Amino acid sequence: MQFSVITLFPELVESVVAEGVVGRAEKRGLMELKCVNPRDFTEDVHRTVDDRPYGGGPGMLMRPDCLLKTIRSERERLGKAKVIYLSPQGKPLEQSMLQALSEEGSAILLCGRYEGIDERVIDLEVDEEWSIGDYVLSGGELAAMVVVDGVTRLLPEALGHKGSAIEDSFTDGLLDCPHYTRPERIEDLDVPKVLLSGNHQHIEKWRKKQALGRTQLRRPDLLQNTELNESDKVLLIE
Ligand code: SAM
Repeated sequence: MQFSVITLFPELVESVVAEGVVGRAEKRGLMELKCVNPRDFTEDVHRTVDDRPYGGGPGMLMRPDCLLKTIRSERERLGKAKVIYLSPQGKPLEQSMLQALSEEGSAILLCGRYEGIDERVIDLEVDEEWSIGDYVLSGGELAAMVVVDGVTRLLPEALGHKGSAIEDSFTDGLLDCPHYTRPERIEDLDVPKVLLSGNHQHIEKWRKKQALGRTQLRRPDLLQNTELNESDKVLLIE
């Protein structure tokens, strides 16, 4: 998977490959991250990337000229990569969007700063706008890092255990079940007995029931969009 992140703060974004699952994936060549700075596509002596908004108002905007040049040079380098602008006005990010992107092989992630970017960049070169939530950040970098992390862990071989991502929340439309590790007792809390039983069928059933119950309690909206089979329906009301 090739990521190109267009950002005024490459060092901030590059830190996403410093550690953990994403860092290991990069070292193993499963993903590649290139950050490109629109400042390198300016032509004036001050390397200006922002300007005042037409019509007045507070703040500055990222200029379209250097952004368009940056995006187009990355499009040329990556072939058919989709351009995604991280924006609070975008489509709310969901696991299924990360899954779909992980199957595309490449992506260009555009990070805004200041009051955002000139609208004509969106009209001309942006394929999709994605939001990481209903709040406003000072730049798109953290959002781009969320996408890079979320996609990378879905790449085949990225996680140590192959089943890990499949069992995560949202993959089958449900929240994940609770998990326990050693010690068996901490303070006055014990690990549920079934998990110590060695009976894989019972463990599987318990986990499914927990996942269903938690989803119903915490995120009933997810259940409305999930097709449950007959045995799941029984577990939910049992
Ligand atoms: N004026 C813009 C608005 O109200 O829609 C907000 C601009 S914000 C201060 C600067 C940049 O941060 C945006 O261009 C975008 O790239 C990024 N950003 C802020 N919040 C975001 C969010 N929730 N999801 C994704 N990107 C976000």
